[in-house]
Amino acid sequence: MIYHIPWINMPVRAVLGIWHQLSKKEIPELAKCSVLMRERSKVEETIYSMQQAGAGSLQVISDFDMTLTRFAYNGKRMPTTHNILDNRLLINEACAKRMRELMNTYYPIEIDTNRSAEEKLPLMVEWWTKVHKLLIQQKIRKDMLGMAVKESNAMLRDGYKQFFDRLSENQVPLLIFSAGVGDVLEEVIRQNHVFHPNVHVISNYMDFDHTGVLRSFQGQLIHTFNKREGALSQAAGLRQLKGRSNVLLLGDSLGDLTMADGVSEPKNILTIGFLNDQVEERKESYINSFDIVLVNDETLDVPNSILRYITSSRNK
Ligand SMILES: [Mg+2]
Repeated sequence: MIYHIPWINMPVRAVLGIWHQLSKKEIPELAKCSVLMRERSKVEETIYSMQQAGAGSLQVISDFDMTLTRFAYNGKRMPTTHNILDNRLLINEACAKRMRELMNTYYPIEIDTNRSAEEKLPLMVEWWTKVHKLLIQQKIRKDMLGMAVKESNAMLRDGYKQFFDRLSENQVPLLIFSAGVGDVLEEVIRQNHVFHPNVHVISNYMDFDHTGVLRSFQGQLIHTFNKREGALSQAAGLRQLKGRSNVLLLGDSLGDLTMADGVSEPKNILTIGFLNDQVEERKESYINSFDIVLVNDETLDVPNSILRYITSSRNK
């Protein structure tokens, strides 16, 4: 077999198109049974092109809740940034109860495979608007957010330190694009000591009055199904992302796929989707939408292995 001859180097391999060697030898994590791919050869070609272009051409765009954070730990659901606010330091019992009722109403709609994103969008905006209104009524104090994060069970996925540190060391910008609460998100990554200078966040930020009490939310509401508008209006303008035409995108919702819509003239976009919940019902749509689907994988092992490979390029 020709590709077992040791003197064959990378360019020759590329000409011969023996892409399948890539994952088996260089990214063994892609062979795990929790990894699903619609078109393995396309994934391998994309990763190879990204590696050839080097870390200098790369940007990473990631969702936060349930993508960079764990979905579950020891069988228990982990909180989103909104759930972290469900703490008596910040809100009272009646507000917490109302927020849980809203979640029971709207979350099933969010993950309903029988409804289109267009159909879900106004309902999701309705959910977020109601939650934000409740939070504002509670007069949340800015100086209590750190304590609420400390007391929460929020956990970044296993391998997070390697993920954030590698991107920072290679000066690869990481855009975190979240429909959660930016102030809480920042506190989570700060408390995990990975809020490096290459991290940029687009999210729903709280606006506090001069005494540090929440009075509104800043700017336009970002929800899972309107990230495209945020990508075009905000992400596209980020100077740090200019000239980086290779994108690694991480998300856990189909709406996250639009996060790269603001990238001008993208060369390669590789999308990784975490399928955390309702696996059987949603598997097919995820495989058809993301390049790589990770089923019930609470780690960042696969993104880390791809990043290790891409940043191993000599043309940084
Ligand atoms: Mg998410």
